[in-house]
Amino acid sequence: MKRELALPGDRIAAGEEYMPGPGTYETEGVIYAAVAGSVKFDEAEKTVTVLEARRVSRLKPGDMVVGEVTGVSNSLANIAVCAVDGIGRQVGAGEAGAVHVSKLSENYTEDARKEYRTGDIVRALVLQVSPSLQLSTREPNLGVIKARCGKCRNTLKNRSGKLYCSDCERQEYRKLADDFARFTPEYRE
Ligand SMILES: [Zn+2]
Repeated sequence: MKRELALPGDRIAAGEEYMPGPGTYETEGVIYAAVAGSVKFDEAEKTVTVLEARRVSRLKPGDMVVGEVTGVSNSLANIAVCAVDGIGRQVGAGEAGAVHVSKLSENYTEDARKEYRTGDIVRALVLQVSPSLQLSTREPNLGVIKARCGKCRNTLKNRSGKLYCSDCERQEYRKLADDFARFTPEYRE
């Protein structure tokens, strides 16, 4: 049962042999890892702890970032962060973060796939960086700033505040940042 590395939920020791230390929890006589990291057994104290493996991120909560949507499920939009907005400070290219559906829009939405599509460029706010990068687009200035047509993949244009594909002659919906027109070309008849 002894292991050196553990992920949250991994069984790491029997509760009768060790006491649960930081980074662990005990349920029905079994000690589990609560965080991802390296497992340390203290034989003198008979405790087990999991030292959290800190992801090195140069981002911090409150940073405004720009990234590309790499995938969308019902509950999450995954985003590869490309840059810190405003400062132009580059971050580790493609640092992976996620926007939970509850943090997606100031309006209630039950499905992230209705708001974002893979390939969209979004501006987001960093909520937390550890143990995972969590982002929010829940403010009017956050959301899609540039998007491609879901059908032909051409860059969508701004037609009277709505995203429009002039090739397919169709309108698409996104959770838009209020200044998306700065980044999205204007549609001309
Ligand atoms: Zn199109």
